[in-house]
Amino acid sequence: MYRIIGVLLLGVVVTACGGGGGSNNLLGPRPSGGDTAKDPDNHDSMDDVYVLKTASAYADVLYNCALADDDSEFCSLNTLPILGMEAADPSVDDVLSRVLVSDAWMGARFEEMLREFPPSMLTLFKGLTAIVIDDDIRPAYYWQATGAIYIDPAYLWTSVAEKQTINAKEDYRSGFSDGLAFRAWRRQLYQGDYAYNWGSLSDNNPRSLSDAVLLSASLFLHELAHVNDFLPYDSYDQINRNYRVYQAIDSLSGGKVSDQLSTQSPLSSSLLSDLADVMFRGQSASAAQRQITATEAGYEFEADAAADMYSYSTQYEDLAMLFEVAMMKYYFDIDSEVAFVTPTANAQYCNDYTIGWGATNWIGDSEVKERAMFVTNRLLPDLDLTLFYQNMPNPFYALQGSDWCLQAPSIANDALSKPAFDAPYPVNPKDFERRPIGPVSR
Ligand SMILES: [Zn+2]
Repeated sequence: MYRIIGVLLLGVVVTACGGGGGSNNLLGPRPSGGDTAKDPDNHDSMDDVYVLKTASAYADVLYNCALADDDSEFCSLNTLPILGMEAADPSVDDVLSRVLVSDAWMGARFEEMLREFPPSMLTLFKGLTAIVIDDDIRPAYYWQATGAIYIDPAYLWTSVAEKQTINAKEDYRSGFSDGLAFRAWRRQLYQGDYAYNWGSLSDNNPRSLSDAVLLSASLFLHELAHVNDFLPYDSYDQINRNYRVYQAIDSLSGGKVSDQLSTQSPLSSSLLSDLADVMFRGQSASAAQRQITATEAGYEFEADAAADMYSYSTQYEDLAMLFEVAMMKYYFDIDSEVAFVTPTANAQYCNDYTIGWGATNWIGDSEVKERAMFVTNRLLPDLDLTLFYQNMPNPFYALQGSDWCLQAPSIANDALSKPAFDAPYPVNPKDFERRPIGPVSR
């Protein structure tokens, strides 16, 4: 039931994480951003990145290895090992030694984030070769051909000058759900309110460091889940370093962590898995799919054991969503609210959307929790999460038929531009955000 997005040719997969699959990238190396005709600014070039720490051990090869895009260019693990082969317990400086950026602020801000993140998160950087942050990347993704992650700087900026350097193109998957009768949404809440200000790329307002930390933590938890899914920590010793990253991944006898998850405890809904092809890959919806209501899709979701609708995209996104949602709760006490909503015609404001099914902290459902425990134990084996899971609250169901408005959200979010107390506000774009892309096929 899982679509293996890229077992073509060399079996290399890119995990496109901004909410879509990377499945339409079977041949092309990277998920391309938007339509260049519609968005002339979208040149999608990463050629302008440079190595942040030029004195680091692999500075000379980093650029060519991270930007390689065919077989004549991909690097072996002898040329550029994954970080965990060099640093069993990576420091912030170790991570920075693998970074390329297109703009100086991205390096500075990323370093600041690394120092703000909970220290145990540094473990998760072990499985990658490089981190590329470029003004043209949207959505973010992991590419198993290079073993690098490619990061959208929209998650990192704090000042207006910073965000003005970022390409404001749309995510290429926007609009994929338009033919359906419902939308599957998600928002991150802290004590019942929006957890952060997402911030628009097109206005003149700065964003706080704490907002950027939460946003980028969520992104990195997701991308790094992919990284360590493909190259589990306990596999390093058996890897032949003459291999390139994708060959190393294919050679692992124990497989990926998500192979084990989907064997032991697979998701079962083919209805949602088929809908994911429409929502995240742009397949046209069938007549039957167009009839499915928010409540029907929600009940189907409730009967299964996924953390998010995006989990149905691939087994990789299933794993990454479990990890991201569980760890945002553990590190920052942030609750994920998932909902299937029905839009009215020309819907724009929160009260234009009716909840057919919704739940906050759905990861507290016993079956979802069980699967999340498996994933977090594998990806952060040194962290004891026993009490965290024991004390995890049960899911809190939304009232069926209620709208998507939060009670008087306090957040100063321009995207919400709350006009007056309790008045309807435009829906926060982050609520229907496309998740970062998972492994992208070569
Ligand atoms: Zn992903």
